[in-house]
Amino acid sequence: MRALYPGSFDPLTLGHLDLIERSSHLFERLVVAVLQNPSKSAAFPLAQRLEQIRQATAHLATVEVGSFDGLTVDYARICGAGVILRGLRALSDFEFELQIAHTNKSLAPQVETLFLATAVSHSFLSSSVVKEVARFGGDVRHMVPPGVASDLARLFNRDASASSSDSAHG
Ligand code: ADP
Repeated sequence: MRALYPGSFDPLTLGHLDLIERSSHLFERLVVAVLQNPSKSAAFPLAQRLEQIRQATAHLATVEVGSFDGLTVDYARICGAGVILRGLRALSDFEFELQIAHTNKSLAPQVETLFLATAVSHSFLSSSVVKEVARFGGDVRHMVPPGVASDLARLFNRDASASSSDSAHG
């Protein structure tokens, strides 16, 4: 069985990566796909987000990286995925995720949505929190893969190696 893990991944966090690592053992093939959402303005261009995911998942033989626009169920069909994977951090994610899962089920009854609970240690992480911390010079190295930490430092025009000593300012 193949699975599709769709998201904005703007940028990839250790929470996303934990989910990818755990589910890579569950499926024959896992496609991590970046959604090009025209209604959201992204901090990182698509090509950079794809590179961040490729780098962080290079050790996982069953993981592929892709991108799509339009409906997730259409892309699931293109990938031959029978499962759409989503992560649940807290109850607050549930309502929104359930609505999307029901919508996708009504569009493509043969595709199942599967939820994995986030690792407790990563349940506070979101791409927006990471960007907010990095913007104000906080250390994000325990929140994102090393490549993403460097990209964030560059985005906010800071020296990545200085971010820990600077964290008192954040
Ligand atoms: P979207 O914009 O589609 O919500 P995200 O990139 O924010 O995309 O998230 C993609 C998926 O990863 C969602 O299912 C989300 O619940 C899940 N996710 C986000 N943050 C975490 C985390 N810290 N741990 C595990 N899963 C997460």
